[in-house]
Amino acid sequence: MNRYELSELSDKSYDVIVVGAGINGAGAAQYLAAGGYKVLIIDKGDFAGGATSKSSRILHCGLRHLAPGKSIWDFVVHPSKFFLACQNARKSMIARSEISSSMKELVRPFRFYFPIYNDGPYFSWQLDFAFKLLNLLGPRDNSLDYHRYSGKSLQEIPFKKWFRDSNKLQSVSVFKDYQFISAERLVVDTIRDSAKLGATVRNYTLMYKPKQLDEVWEATLKDVLTSKEVNVKTKLILNVTGPWGNWVNQMMKPGIPDKVIGLKGAHIVVKLPEEFSECGIMVINRANEPMYILPWHDMHYIGLNRTPYDGELDEVKATKDEIEWLIGEVNYAFPKLNFNREDILYSYAGIQPVTFDADDPQGSREVVVHDLASEGIANVLMLTGGPIWDYRNIAKKLLKEISSRCVPSLDKQRPSFCSSEMTQLLRETSPTSVDMKYSENIIKKIILEEQTVSLADIMIRRTGLGWAADRGEATADKVATLMAELKGWDEQRKEKEIQSFHQYIKEMHQVH
Ligand SMILES: Cc1cc2nc3c(=O)[nH]c(=O)nc-3n(C[C@H](O)[C@H](O)[C@H](O)COP(=O)(O)OP(=O)(O)OC[C@H]3O[C@@H](n4cnc5c(N)ncnc54)[C@H](O)[C@@H]3O)c2cc1C
Repeated sequence: MNRYELSELSDKSYDVIVVGAGINGAGAAQYLAAGGYKVLIIDKGDFAGGATSKSSRILHCGLRHLAPGKSIWDFVVHPSKFFLACQNARKSMIARSEISSSMKELVRPFRFYFPIYNDGPYFSWQLDFAFKLLNLLGPRDNSLDYHRYSGKSLQEIPFKKWFRDSNKLQSVSVFKDYQFISAERLVVDTIRDSAKLGATVRNYTLMYKPKQLDEVWEATLKDVLTSKEVNVKTKLILNVTGPWGNWVNQMMKPGIPDKVIGLKGAHIVVKLPEEFSECGIMVINRANEPMYILPWHDMHYIGLNRTPYDGELDEVKATKDEIEWLIGEVNYAFPKLNFNREDILYSYAGIQPVTFDADDPQGSREVVVHDLASEGIANVLMLTGGPIWDYRNIAKKLLKEISSRCVPSLDKQRPSFCSSEMTQLLRETSPTSVDMKYSENIIKKIILEEQTVSLADIMIRRTGLGWAADRGEATADKVATLMAELKGWDEQRKEKEIQSFHQYIKEMHQVH
């Protein structure tokens, strides 16, 4: 995956410029390149550096689509809502099956426990019904292994003694769900395939000053590291910049109404007692929202609190209040843990891009492709919404929309949905763990093949080393030494890189 000199792109023409290389940009570039389009995909930062690397990493089975809005009557009174919920649940089940079988190095199954309380919003029978329905809706090749513990069998749950109000605990449902081991590598692998199919790929490249010239767009690309600029032309611009989407639209035509809203979600990372080991738990918090407690190395991450956000997008961190709120909710669900701030190992936060909805400050979950011709600018499409698990359906949808507007200039090819050889090398660990293997050879290959610019690119977004319990403490110096060797950094530059990485970890993953 060559990182072209910016000057090599000067005055080049493309069918489509994909702006943004999160999961949705990566998926779109892969499908478009396979569909015969001459594609340029750029990101102003590193690949997957936006919302995609800050998620709860769940390859959702679709259960939450079946949760009725306010009460079960919502579905009874509005059967069309129930029908839509079933359609979405089926889509999730199919995606779960496809991704977990084709990219098994990048996902792992885990047991997801869901306690049902007498004072909670759901009844046990609703869960039994929902899982029956999911099994019917989904493909037969990947069971949910659903089971519900009640009465005496509750004692079989390893962490049973930690639950709140055991006298109100009716039952606990458990099922098999999947976790993305690295959404970042999913993006990199997808972009690697798009490059193999002919797409031009470049990170740390900002698109700005787009101008419409008769039939085509001309855009300026700026290398954010050197500030060098070139102009390129394209028949169509695809805005897949997630939470930055409105801002990119404004560059094309000031005054376009907001299409996306950002919801901020924070996570805390903690060490739970041994009984919780490798168990995922979903509880309903006091705001009546699901809270996820998910296994991660020998720790767990816990999130999230979705709040509308219109602040700065580039360096989003969990605030002291958000961390305290999460601690309060964990202590509510598991009072005997009695956590306080000293128990937090690290935190992270991101902005989920959801579709603007004038009637709901939390936006809509719908995935929408907006044709900005309706705003007076032709040949610009923008995506809003779009979770990680749905990326292949979204890419298909984008390809279909683009096919009806723009003819491809190249031949069609077949994409590969398998994980790359690099991922396979990194994951020569236990398939049930989230560990990535560190070896000099693998890191050297990553440096040479995967457009790495900074130490953080490798530690956070090419390997999971920076997400481990020590947050890369044991490996950062060794990786920096290899980077220095291959990139010709002097000692001063190497030290600066190590300092910046540690500073990044301290600031972005702060515990306050
Ligand atoms: C807290 C949280 C929890 C979540 N949990 C889950 C989950 O469990 N499962 C799930 O499937 N999904 C989850 N999501 C949702 C999911 O992460 C996002 O919907 C998805 O990652 C969005 O991807 P994207 O490619 O659209 O946007 P992004 O990943 O944000 O990518 C957009 C990219 O555009 C780039 N960009 C912006 N402006 C420009 C410009 N002018 N020029 C060039 N590049 C530009 C940015 O640098 C960025 O990399 C969660 C999200 C959050 C925040």
